[in-house]
Amino acid sequence: MRISLLTQIMIAFIIAVVAGVIAGPAMQAVQPLGDLFLRLIKFIIVPLVLTSLVVGVAGTGDLKKLGRMGGKTILYYLVTTAIAVTLGLVIGNLFSPGTGLAITEPESKVEYQEAPGLVATLLGIIPTNPVAALVEGNMLQIIFFAIFLGLGITLVGEKGVPVYRFFEGLAEVMYKITSIVMRVAPLGVFGLIAPTVGSYGVSILLPLMKVILAVAIGCLLHALITYSAAVKLFAAISPVRFFKGIGPASLVAFSTCSSSGTLPVTIRNTEENLGVSKRVGSFVLPLGATVNMDGTALYQGVCVLFVAQFFGYDLTLVQQLMVVLTATLASIGTAGVPGAGLLMLTMVLTSVQLPLEGIALIAGIDRILDMFRTAVNVTGDASAAVVVAASEGELKRGRAAAVGSSS
Ligand code: ASP
Repeated sequence: MRISLLTQIMIAFIIAVVAGVIAGPAMQAVQPLGDLFLRLIKFIIVPLVLTSLVVGVAGTGDLKKLGRMGGKTILYYLVTTAIAVTLGLVIGNLFSPGTGLAITEPESKVEYQEAPGLVATLLGIIPTNPVAALVEGNMLQIIFFAIFLGLGITLVGEKGVPVYRFFEGLAEVMYKITSIVMRVAPLGVFGLIAPTVGSYGVSILLPLMKVILAVAIGCLLHALITYSAAVKLFAAISPVRFFKGIGPASLVAFSTCSSSGTLPVTIRNTEENLGVSKRVGSFVLPLGATVNMDGTALYQGVCVLFVAQFFGYDLTLVQQLMVVLTATLASIGTAGVPGAGLLMLTMVLTSVQLPLEGIALIAGIDRILDMFRTAVNVTGDASAAVVVAASEGELKRGRAAAVGSSS
């Protein structure tokens, strides 16, 4: 009997948690397995995104169509992110994770993180040197470069065909490499989860258990309500099929705490298991891994209330609305790498004049919160790919797309 990849990863996950609890810090010994997997998926990202997006755009060759798809994607990202922060605030109000805490106020001063201006951010999307963008792995610049390459290939016509074929071939090769790397995913998940579970003692987790629970429950609700409704209403896909299909990517995201690092898995799962076309997936997903962070936004909503409650501030409704706005923007500015959301929290706290020292309180448990929020970030990107693909008539349905979860 062949066990599906999702089941294998889940088994690895459970064994890792049990091993971490039993063996404690000794589980650090398996960290190299996790690092091995991380490096393997990271090395695929840049060539995969570049080639698949060039092929996707050149295959469309229509600026209008591309603009329409971009508009829908960004609208979906903004709306779901705003819903996520709001849910975070509601849960933060209900749970009151910052009241009655028996921990001492941190003394350390936290450095203020200056957010870059809007104009500079937008200009920064255009690479002055596309090769440098590839070398640095600057995802937005790579997307920009790939879109123009794809358009250029179409406009050139016959002479562009060899270039197209080159990218098409390389894209296929990168997909193949992704499928090879995915075979070690269960081992990788074990190597990432066991040391994390092993290194966190009860004494660190217990005082802040309410924050962890608030973020975890918020993330779960957002996925179960918002994404289920979105894929059901806009793409007529059953939520069970959606979660099963994206399961491996969600678990890899949970283990790696990196949306960008998970990208090759997300692309593969949405295409093979959920039937999203290459054109839509290769556009929507790299963009999402860089700018769409629903889990991060939700976490920031919870954390703002936590800090306010801990230091005894009352946030008015207007201030909470301000948090919806700044957390949405902050999550867009958050990089898809571990711990980035904590840095951007400074921006949100500053917007409502809360003490930045609150960050030091959260820092100790941030890795745990990062797991939940990154899993939601990635699942949210996938839901966008499904919804956009359906609206563009590019969602394969039926068995062919549904059986992929065993791959
Ligand atoms: N680790 C998250 C991600 O990669 C970002 C964050 O720290 O919130 O999606």
